[in-house]
Amino acid sequence: MEPLIRMEGVSFDYELSDGEAVHVLRDVSLEVYPGEYVAIIGHNGSGKSTLAKHFNGILKPKEGNVYVAGFNTRDARHTREIRQRVGMVFQHPDNQIVATIVEDDVAFGLENIGVPPREMRSRIDFALKAVGMYEYRNRPPHHLSGGQKQRVAIAGVLAMKPRCLVLDEATSMLDAHGRGEILQVVRRLHREGMTVIAVTHHMSEAAEADRVLVMEAGRIAMEGSPREIFQQREILRGLQLDIPVAGRLAERVHAQVPEFRPDLIHQREIID
Ligand code: ADP
Repeated sequence: MEPLIRMEGVSFDYELSDGEAVHVLRDVSLEVYPGEYVAIIGHNGSGKSTLAKHFNGILKPKEGNVYVAGFNTRDARHTREIRQRVGMVFQHPDNQIVATIVEDDVAFGLENIGVPPREMRSRIDFALKAVGMYEYRNRPPHHLSGGQKQRVAIAGVLAMKPRCLVLDEATSMLDAHGRGEILQVVRRLHREGMTVIAVTHHMSEAAEADRVLVMEAGRIAMEGSPREIFQQREILRGLQLDIPVAGRLAERVHAQVPEFRPDLIHQREIID
């Protein structure tokens, strides 16, 4: 099977105004296959978000190449195809909502690519139903909770019919309820065939993935199934992943890794 996303030897620097460069990604190679669910974890500043922004060409590599469905993200002629295939959802729900009515917000991207009105209607309805926000379609987004706003942001991406959804810390501003809402939506989309890449610092979310990548100083330090990664206690300690994992999600982690005991989390015996 052809990978949906292929990164080859990608390095990236941020150029600062004083001429200095911050070296962020170093020689990252990675393939993501259709239908996979990949979680990316790592310290703050390890380059997760910078990596995520390479998946749909928001950032272009300084060295190396990124291919999305075979299109090189450096090739500006294919920007539209690439952005349609790989949709991004970011951290702050408020920054992603542009319209004053929910369904207009979902329509925004479709208008930009010139989708005819009748098809637009069906895509908006499909996307809002997929995230459970159809009954809110005529509401102003600022009345919604954080989790609901993120679901609208996901609907905006789904309306573009992407093959891959990239969530860059998309739940980190949400409370446990909001996180649960997003996880439920993402889990269902993945079950229905969507490729998912989730940058997260919640281990309970990483436990949902087929494959976990651990970023360390701009490199992929380690990768494996959640089970393989969570068994590396040294790494968990190094990542300071001490966020309490509650209820059902903790049970999922526990099901994957028996020694990851939810009842011990609050005593920090596993994490510390
Ligand atoms: P993570 O998502 O793992 O927290 P980031 O990719 O956001 O990591 O950041 C990696 C490094 O790049 C950090 O040192 C951060 O300070 C730096 N960085 C991120 N964005 C910018 C930017 N726009 N300009 C300069 N440096 C940046």
